[in-house]
Amino acid sequence: MDIEREILETDILIVGAGPAGLAVAHKLMQLVEADGDMEVPEILVMEKGSHVGAHALSGAVMDPKGLKELIPDFVEKEAPLEAEVKSDAMYYLSESGSMKFPFTPPSINNHGNYIVSLNKLSAWLGEQVEATGLDIFAGLAGYDLIIENGRVEGVQTVDMGLNKEGEPRSNFEPGSIVKAKLTILCEGVHGSLTRHAYERIPELLADALPQSYLTGVKEVWKVPEGRIKAGDVIHTIGWPQPSHEYGGGWVYGMSDTMVSIGYAVGLNSPDPTNDPHMKFQRYKCHPLMREILKGGEMLHYGAKTIPDAGYYSMPKLYHQGLLLCGDSAGMLNPAKLKGIHLAIKSGIMAAETAFDCLKADDFSADRLKAYADRFDTSWAKDELYKYRNFHQGFDGGLLPGLFHAGIQMVTGGRGLFDRRRHERDHKYMMTIEQYQKRFGKKPEKHTVKLDNEFTHDKLTDVYKSGTMHEEEQPSHLVIADYDICNNRCTEEYGNPCQHFCPAHVYEMVDDDERPGKIKLQLTPSNCVHCKTCDIADPYQVIRWVTPQGGEGPNYENC
Ligand code: SF4
Repeated sequence: MDIEREILETDILIVGAGPAGLAVAHKLMQLVEADGDMEVPEILVMEKGSHVGAHALSGAVMDPKGLKELIPDFVEKEAPLEAEVKSDAMYYLSESGSMKFPFTPPSINNHGNYIVSLNKLSAWLGEQVEATGLDIFAGLAGYDLIIENGRVEGVQTVDMGLNKEGEPRSNFEPGSIVKAKLTILCEGVHGSLTRHAYERIPELLADALPQSYLTGVKEVWKVPEGRIKAGDVIHTIGWPQPSHEYGGGWVYGMSDTMVSIGYAVGLNSPDPTNDPHMKFQRYKCHPLMREILKGGEMLHYGAKTIPDAGYYSMPKLYHQGLLLCGDSAGMLNPAKLKGIHLAIKSGIMAAETAFDCLKADDFSADRLKAYADRFDTSWAKDELYKYRNFHQGFDGGLLPGLFHAGIQMVTGGRGLFDRRRHERDHKYMMTIEQYQKRFGKKPEKHTVKLDNEFTHDKLTDVYKSGTMHEEEQPSHLVIADYDICNNRCTEEYGNPCQHFCPAHVYEMVDDDERPGKIKLQLTPSNCVHCKTCDIADPYQVIRWVTPQGGEGPNYENC
């Protein structure tokens, strides 16, 4: 289809209005204003959610270091901080019991941190950016990264108004070409344009180890008074995660009656029935959690992946016309499972670099390298470097992982090995046969009684995420080969997509044309944009592409 596209030109294009992207915009406007001489540059901030914060999801306990640097008077400016952390506790769980650690490991000591709702914090940051005179274009999704002669030139936005077959409907609006002197990708975890960049500019990942991910599933509950206090932080390891798999849970007191509860599961699991949503439902049935949740009401749901491999899996941070920030660059502390402060700090450093480039009218890789240099001398690098081997220490399971974490603590992060190689997550998934050989039994589907009191099915949770997609559009989950899904995967892995997706998008149904066989059926409108399928599919035939702008989850209080 030959389509004439509108071409928009801007100086700086920021993709993603999360903490990283908003920090870039805010800091850049501060620098321009402080300079006095410089003409205000054209800065375009685009966000695929329907509004700023709609797609922002996190645990979330925030280390305020980054925000303090960006907006020192954030408390006076009434940043939406749910509670200052007052108490920290760490538990090891068995199926029916719990053992409280006598102390909280320093890596997860949250003294001085705040419990926040990332979608509220992002909305507030968006207001601070708009107060500088910048507009944020929400509901505008990037479809493709434009690279010409090896230089990133901007982004093509998503076409609106196509039917399921990809043909224009009466309301068709072609995506535009947004050309920029500098494109800054702040898309969050496993963004589709960032993936384009990695695929088409191989040098970005040439020196990086593969990224590893967790899928985090969370709910926000209203509970009766007396169950938890505002500022209480509980972390757990152990049940329901088997000891050879990576993951853990949390409960945060957002107020005396509001609780954030969640569970994160490593996607490098050998189990083809690995089901983060179901593990989370089981987690809520533990006596410790029941005591907190009983008589309460689940209000909100969300799920997203977390880039957890740390420092050695970070990409090269710049290329001609391009910078990478925050989760897009894998900037997350794996020991603390925290990235908001690092995202903001990376945004600040990207803005300082962009400002210098604007002054010199030079956006070459040589000048953009200053961003990587800034990172190398920053507290963000120091923090990430200290935990550079944390995730890899758990490759042998929970107990070796705790042992390695202890050794790393006294060796400045080095531990017994440094920069141990690992594979991409999907390579660890075993076929049914391999699993049976290794564990002496077939992988078993994870189940729990869904009682609609403590536990909920995926569809109820999707409803609580506010997710919305127009049905009449091309599927944003592109399956390269249905034959693999309907035949080979059924036999070899038992179709793991129906388990790992936390939103019931993938279903295996009877195939009327092949009696006795099953086939894959998709419901893309349920998708909460977590990206688990794109990462965990063992054949890598699933590709998540951006749907129409303004669609997807509509997170509240998450
Ligand atoms: Fe996540 Fe993929 Fe399911 Fe969407 S379809 S919710 S991205 S696993």
